[in-house]
Amino acid sequence: MHLHLFPSPSGAALLLNKMSMDVTFLGTGAAYPSPTRGASATVVRFEGECWLFDCGEGTQTQFMKSQLKAGRITKIFITHLHGDHFFGLPGLLCTISLQSDPAGNKLPVDIYGPLGLRSFLWRIMALSHSQLTFPYVVHELVPTPEQCPEEERKELSFVDRDAALPEGTPGRTVYLDPTDNSYPLVDNEQFVMKAFRLFHRIPSFGFLVEEKPRPGRLNVQKLKELGVQPGPMYGKLKEGITVVLENGTTISPSDVLEEPLPGRKICILGDCCSMVGEGAASLCHGADILVHEATLDDSQMDKAREHGHSTPKMAAEFAKRCQVKRLVLSHLSQRYKPTSQVGAGDLDVLELKRQAELALDGQEVVLAEDFMTIAVPLKKTR
Ligand SMILES: [Zn+2]
Ligand SMILES: [Zn+2]
Repeated sequence: MHLHLFPSPSGAALLLNKMSMDVTFLGTGAAYPSPTRGASATVVRFEGECWLFDCGEGTQTQFMKSQLKAGRITKIFITHLHGDHFFGLPGLLCTISLQSDPAGNKLPVDIYGPLGLRSFLWRIMALSHSQLTFPYVVHELVPTPEQCPEEERKELSFVDRDAALPEGTPGRTVYLDPTDNSYPLVDNEQFVMKAFRLFHRIPSFGFLVEEKPRPGRLNVQKLKELGVQPGPMYGKLKEGITVVLENGTTISPSDVLEEPLPGRKICILGDCCSMVGEGAASLCHGADILVHEATLDDSQMDKAREHGHSTPKMAAEFAKRCQVKRLVLSHLSQRYKPTSQVGAGDLDVLELKRQAELALDGQEVVLAEDFMTIAVPLKKTR
């Protein structure tokens, strides 16, 4: 087991398990940042790395006010190209660059987002004469026409893409994989990350982070019966390696390991009023955390749909369909105020929570707040 050591404020060493995983909300407001709710930004933290989902204006100052370190960002995912989801990106990248070690120890950053994002970033970096001290790569997702109303569809071929501004390595261009209705982004030893299609005023995406199953526990009773002595062989079997005992008996991991333990699953959706295809529902099934927008309350459902947004009931119905363990509502209109600040003509933000819980038969729903962190513990059983 690897352990990271972080100094605690008291000076004593605090042991943090390498496998800890959590979600922190840095911006939970819709349309623009306010002093109480920043524009969209959510961070998933795993093994000291930060993965940022959306980067609204002001995200860099939200980082500074939080416990998180922007320099630890290794992946950025942009759900869609409305300003409240990515106007903070160039500023954040430039500040990370300014603050990073000139020796160039900053890990490269992979950025994933809709078609057009690469050109935007390269152009803004060139126009502002900004040069980042660390490498970054933009991988673009190609939306399908069903992701927005016909009148909003834009032909992006006018954007002089990769050729004009050779800022760096162009990343991948990712197309919908029709076999599971998703966009494959990352697949490594520990994780799978995918995008899926949402319906909004402009093409929008949701993202899935799914940890791969971990090996099950060793069945000590069985090991004893088979004559395996406690020691290095236990470790090998746990890692999935077949061992041969001194008496010549071959023991394969499946003989002594219990069923694998399921990995954790987090789904973070961009702005939407519905899904496109079956990708979203199947990928979000059983998620530990589903972050769904709820821009307006249920009494504004028609207006929400017209603007391509959701209400608590709409979010809850999707959560129910996917049997998610915890629904978190975010991207809340700035008109909803905390109970203590509700004045004449304001609406209490708690009403959004009540509406979602009603639609979820009383299951507890979380209202995202800026700087709120939710831990996602390892699963000990199936
Ligand atoms: Zn938005
Ligand atoms: Zn939007």
